Amino acid sequence: GPRIGVLALQGDVREHVRALTEAGATAGPVRRPHELDAVDALVVPGGESTTMSKLAIEFGLLDPVRKRVADGMPVYGSCAGMIMLATTVLDGRPDQRGFDGIEMTVRRNAFGRQVDSFEGPVEIAGIDGGPFHAVFIRAPWVESVGAGVEVLGRVADGSPRGRIVAVRQGSLLATSFHPELTGDLRVHRFFVDLVRAGA
Ligand code: GLN
Repeated sequence: GPRIGVLALQGDVREHVRALTEAGATAGPVRRPHELDAVDALVVPGGESTTMSKLAIEFGLLDPVRKRVADGMPVYGSCAGMIMLATTVLDGRPDQRGFDGIEMTVRRNAFGRQVDSFEGPVEIAGIDGGPFHAVFIRAPWVESVGAGVEVLGRVADGSPRGRIVAVRQGSLLATSFHPELTGDLRVHRFFVDLVRAGA
């Protein structure tokens, strides 16, 4: 299958490697620029975006990933990974940097003020088989999107209803929730197909 790296600076790397492998990709961690050069696509895991940003700079990966993103490499980001892909971050740290991929404004820890985590059903446009059992852990939501961004999913239940939690811009995909934690492979399969289609 396509070679898909998981950015392995911090976060739930192993869960994504496992899900990608089960979805038919050749998956492994990416921690160094030469490892990035060897992959067709990248997953940015959940974790802590401020820490990931700091480590991306320290490991010399921030600019190389930004360049690959600008050149059209497919990337899927979940939770902190969604934050790393956004062009604008609210409630971030002032020195927080990202990969400047998806033209959207996300709010960090948006669901976190009232409830740190919650679970609920989310329908994703283009993915059959019923709603996802979406797990949100101090998750961001998407406040607004640019013209080129497709909204794929919103919170149907819980608080607050209607917030955008899944988006796509070309070969860039992001979800506020963590499909890698629930054993539902449909988002990873969708991403692997997207990588295959571009290859
Ligand atoms: N709150 C984290 C951040 O700001 C994201 C949480 C997660 O990835 N589960 O990066």
